Formats: sequence, structure tokens, C-alpha cells
Amino acid sequence: MVMGELEQQTELLVIGNGPGGYAAAFRAADLGLDVTMVDPFPRPGGVCLFTGCIPSKTLLFLAELIHDAARSGDMGVSFGIPRIDLDAVRRWKAKVIRSMSSGLLSLSKQRSVQVLKGRAIFEDSKTVRLEDSEVRRIRFKHAVVAVGSEPIPYPGVPFKAGGRIMSSTGALALADIPKSLLIIGGGYVGLELGTVYSALGSKVTVVELADILLPGVDRDLVEPLKRRLDTIFEGIRLKTKVVGLKEDDEGVDVVLEGDVEKTDHRFDRVLVAIGRKPSTEGLGLEETQVKTDNKGFIIIDDQQRTADPLIFAVGDAVGGMMLAHKASREGKVAAEVIAGQPSAFDVRAIPAIIYTDPQIAWCGLTEEQAREKNIEIKILRFPWKFSGRAHTMGAAEGLTKILVNRDTGRIAGVGIVGRETEGLISEGSFAIEMGALAEDMALSIHPHPTLSETEGEAAELYLGSSTHIMSKKSV
Ligand SMILES: Cc1cc2nc3c(=O)[nH]c(=O)nc-3n(C[C@H](O)[C@H](O)[C@H](O)COP(=O)(O)OP(=O)(O)OC[C@H]3O[C@@H](n4cnc5c(N)ncnc54)[C@H](O)[C@@H]3O)c2cc1C
Repeated sequence: MVMGELEQQTELLVIGNGPGGYAAAFRAADLGLDVTMVDPFPRPGGVCLFTGCIPSKTLLFLAELIHDAARSGDMGVSFGIPRIDLDAVRRWKAKVIRSMSSGLLSLSKQRSVQVLKGRAIFEDSKTVRLEDSEVRRIRFKHAVVAVGSEPIPYPGVPFKAGGRIMSSTGALALADIPKSLLIIGGGYVGLELGTVYSALGSKVTVVELADILLPGVDRDLVEPLKRRLDTIFEGIRLKTKVVGLKEDDEGVDVVLEGDVEKTDHRFDRVLVAIGRKPSTEGLGLEETQVKTDNKGFIIIDDQQRTADPLIFAVGDAVGGMMLAHKASREGKVAAEVIAGQPSAFDVRAIPAIIYTDPQIAWCGLTEEQAREKNIEIKILRFPWKFSGRAHTMGAAEGLTKILVNRDTGRIAGVGIVGRETEGLISEGSFAIEMGALAEDMALSIHPHPTLSETEGEAAELYLGSSTHIMSKKSV
């Protein structure tokens, strides 16, 4: 493999350098394969690093600081009204991204993974041609497709760069702080970005077609968040549809249709957060044996194999939970299978976190899924009003719940709403992966005072007695 050649050969071609792609590339290189990774963006990181997880969490951290400063007034410490220097915020965000992407680039170099700029299009099952690249064509022994996903626009209104009708990418660019922002879609992306903009000072309204926010997440976890969002957002309109959307230089005209009325509104900006679709269009998959479903997601088996024996696929492009850590695990599995190892994507629990205020995190089975699958579960709830640590933080509205399989006594799911759930949920994932009994979690000593005690005490309820909560013998 020589740089600058118009045609190259590689053992493994990874298409897309997001968390699925670079995890596959790095694992394959560690296993001794000769790897080339190609992406129109010259630096590894993908959506997650440049326009997803990292920029959103950088801004959400600032939102948390702003909210905490406002809240601490009740605890006797007051700060002034925050002064926001948007240029400095953008610089901080760019610095975070730059340092992460430099790290990934140097890890690629250390592993001798060739990082190429270009858009790959399959010519056949062993060849891609590259657009916008110094290399014209690459022949490979195996390929991993990790092309990710992209935001779905409102029907008939494509996203325009710099437009007032924004995708999550546009919203994260933080062009200004709009006085009023409408968010179409009450999923996690909309609610996280709504949290950012409301902390910065925008009046945020959310419209959601369903009669609930965050469909698919257990209601008792969503309720404390909904109560909080009702206080920081201008409005949350459920069972409401956007039936008109038109942008001009100064703002966006929106027509909303609820149960009864149809109303006209005007907002400074609109964020369309109605979901994402796989970036598989125009990839030339029809020149291979790879099969997709009716939404364009690549169909794979539990070893990340597509219907084409030489081509594997991972990450958002294969659907399921569209999360970075799921993509990374799949990337590693693909690399290991290609290197001849008996690997499979056989996880029991993929944790998910919504970084709102409060945060929601869960893993394993949800109550809704247990009902759908007719799995008999015992639900153990530990409200945070019984947690000393939660009180020290002014976070007593939280809740930890554990779902235990009635047949086996094993932990089947964990759901938490409250502060810093991001740090708590991994105990649940670990327990589920290990096949832990509720008793195992109950008898593991959790340090005091910590929020992790809420997991230990929820599990104690299974044994019929938890120190800080009076419970019936059987819940
Ligand atoms: C606002 C937002 C916040 C998010 N927050 C979180 C979070 O907190 N935690 C979490 O786990 N997930 C989060 N996600 C989801 C996460 O970003 C994705 O699940 C993850 O990036 C998927 O990784 P991937 O490797 O499949 O693809 P991506 O990260 O989407 O990367 C795909 C790459 O493929 C490239 N590509 C596309 N077509 C081609 C082609 N033809 N040739 C070559 N390259 C191509 C693209 O340029 C891109 O770089 C968030 C997403 C958004 C939008």
C-alpha cells in the first residue's frame, strides 16, 4: 500500500470513520490486518465527535452549570445572571472536538491505519471508487461499512446550510441564541438540544406527534423530566402536528395542528429532530450482494456479516439502538470475525442515557418490553427522597428501579432518572451481562453517601427489606 497511488489494495477497507468505523479499524490493526479507513471528513470521529455526542454533551455541560448556579440560590449561594459569550462557547466546543480528533488521528498513525479522505462508492463486492480523493479506486479483501446516519428533514423542506430550519448539526453550530425556538420532535436529540438552548436563554417550545415525550422510555422515568421541562421550556405540545413550515430572512412561520385547533406561529428558529436515516443511499450497495430493509438499513447477522460474504456492516447504518457505544462494539465484532475469531454481537444490555436535567438512563429490559415479551418481572423502585446523597445535591426527585426476572431472580433491567445517572447505569449493564442476581447487587457494599446506594437499596427490596425504605415483604 503506497500513499498517492491512484489505485490501492488493502486487506480491510473501513468505510466511514465514526465510532463504529474507527473501532473496527483499530481492532483489526491490533489483530495484524492491513487497514485503510476512508471518509469524506479527513479526521476520524464521525457524527459522534463532530456533530453528535461530543458537541452536544459539551454544551449540555454548560447548561448544567447554568442550571446549577440558578438552583444553588435555594442553598444559600447566589451567582449573577450568566453572561454568555457565544464566540467563546463555540471556541471551547471546537477545542474539545479538536483535541479528541487529534487523539484519534494519532492513534490511527500509531496503528498504521491509513486514513484517507474520500467518499466510497461500491463498484462490486471487492472494489470501491472514491470521490473527492487523491486515490481513485481501492480493492479490498474485506470491507466494513460504517457510514452512519443523517437527520431526516421535515417533508418537502430540505435543510439549507445556515438556514433557520435546522437539523441537530445546524443547532449545534450555535449561530446565535434565538429568542424563540421550536423543536419538532420530543425524542432525546430534541430534548437535549432544547435543554441547551433554554439554558442559553431561548424560549423553547416542543411539539410532539405522540401523546408522550420520549416514546419507548418507561413513563415513571420520564415524569420527573417532564415536570422539570415544563418549568424551563415555554411549552410542550403533545399530540400536535406541524402542518406548515416556511422560512424567510427573519424567522419561520409554522402552522400547528393539535386535537382541535390549527394555529399559526412564528419562531426565530426551528430545530427538526424527527429521527435519522441510514446514509446508505448512493453507496452503490446494489453492485454488491448486500441487502437492505425498506428503510435502507443494512441487514446483518450477529457477526455483523451482510448478505455479501466479503462485506460487513456496523453502527447506525444497520439500525437498532443508534448509539456510539453500540456502533463501537459492533465494529470490534466485525474486525474480530474478519480476523478469524469466534466473535459475535451477543450483548444483553445496551445502556442508553439522555443527558437532560434530570438525566434518564436505562439498560436491559424496560417495563414496556417485559410486557410485550410476556416476561414476568418484579419491579423494585427506590425513590431518591430516601437517599441522603440525593438530598445533599437537591436532587431528591430522582428514582432508581430494577427489574428482576421472576423465574430466575436475575436482574433484567435497570432504569434511573435523576442527577448523574450517566455514572450509575454501568453497574446495571455489568450486572445484567454477568447474569447477576438481585441479591448480588444488594449484597455488594455501595459506598455512602453516593447515588449508587439507590441501586443497592432497590435490589435490597428484592430481599424484602431495604434500610431507608419501609417496604411490603413482596413488591
Ligand atoms: C445530536 C446528537 C447527539 C448524540 N448523542 C449521543 C450520545 O450522547 N451518545 C451516543 O452513544 N450516541 C449519541 N448520538 C448518536 C451517535 O452519534 C451515533 O450513534 C454514532 O455516531 C454512530 O456511529 P457510526 O460509526 O455508525 O456512524 P457515524 O458516526 O454517523 O459516522 C459515519 C461516518 O461515515 C461517513 N460516510 C458516510 N458515507 C460515506 C461514504 N460513502 N464513504 C465514506 N464515508 C462515508 C460519514 O462522513 C461519517 O463520518 C448522537 C447523535 C446526534 C445527532
